[in-house]
Amino acid sequence: MRDCLKLEKITKTYQDDNGETTAIKDFSYDFKKGHFTSIIGPSGCGKSTLLSVICGLEVPTSGMIYLDNSKLTTKNNSIGYMLQKDYLLEFRTVYKNILIGLEIKKNMNVKTLAYVDALLRKYGLFEFKDKYPSQLSGGMRQRVALIRTLATNPDILLLDEAFSALDYQTRLLVTDDVYQIIRAENKTAIMVTHDIPESISMSDEVIVLTKRPSTISQVYQISFDMDDRTPLKCREHPKFTTYFDAIWQTLNGGTS
Ligand code: ADP
Ligand code: MG
Repeated sequence: MRDCLKLEKITKTYQDDNGETTAIKDFSYDFKKGHFTSIIGPSGCGKSTLLSVICGLEVPTSGMIYLDNSKLTTKNNSIGYMLQKDYLLEFRTVYKNILIGLEIKKNMNVKTLAYVDALLRKYGLFEFKDKYPSQLSGGMRQRVALIRTLATNPDILLLDEAFSALDYQTRLLVTDDVYQIIRAENKTAIMVTHDIPESISMSDEVIVLTKRPSTISQVYQISFDMDDRTPLKCREHPKFTTYFDAIWQTLNGGTS
């Protein structure tokens, strides 16, 4: 499988009134096209920083990033970002929320609007398009947030703890929903989480980070050999606990 995003020795050091904080140190990884990769690590280790660097919100202190073999430029259009909070604008309808990325990029035309229309219909949001965010459930709001991210048709989706604000039951269902939409749309996904089961159930590979300054501790290839893989089905699979135990040990200082 082709690499699409290559990070080479990325280091990010913040400078503020309290001095210097190195969040990430020498992070190198080749993200594969069409793969779902999770990045897991302790709180404050630099996970969000890594995604901010990938999407151009933060400039790395050193290191290089290549997208499809070209040097990454800041604020790249082919990368979409989905956060823990859905940041839907309460005064805008679902439809107007979904259009916001295209509006900002001044890219509303017949083709992009037809794509949005197709996404709304395919993923059951068409009948909700004139509702306001406050009229939706938490799960539905996250679906709107995902479709809003997909509306600009990015190749790569970044998800930062995107489900952690939801209650457990909703979280399981939304995870399934988001996973299936990302797969159906053939996107490359990079998800940051501190939830081991979530990372295993959704990913083709899991990168475990060390404490700050973060570097790669271990990478796990995840494969369940099943047709129609879904996160919920993965949680029931006999291999699930094997992966869980290995990642747990690595996160807690072992090297299994
Ligand atoms: P995580 O997402 O893994 O919880 P972050 O990437 O948010 O971690 O933060 C990593 C470290 O960098 C933390 O110590 C945090 O305080 C620090 N940090 C993050 N953003 C900034 C910033 N804008 N300025 C200074 N320090 C920051
Ligand atoms: Mg974070």
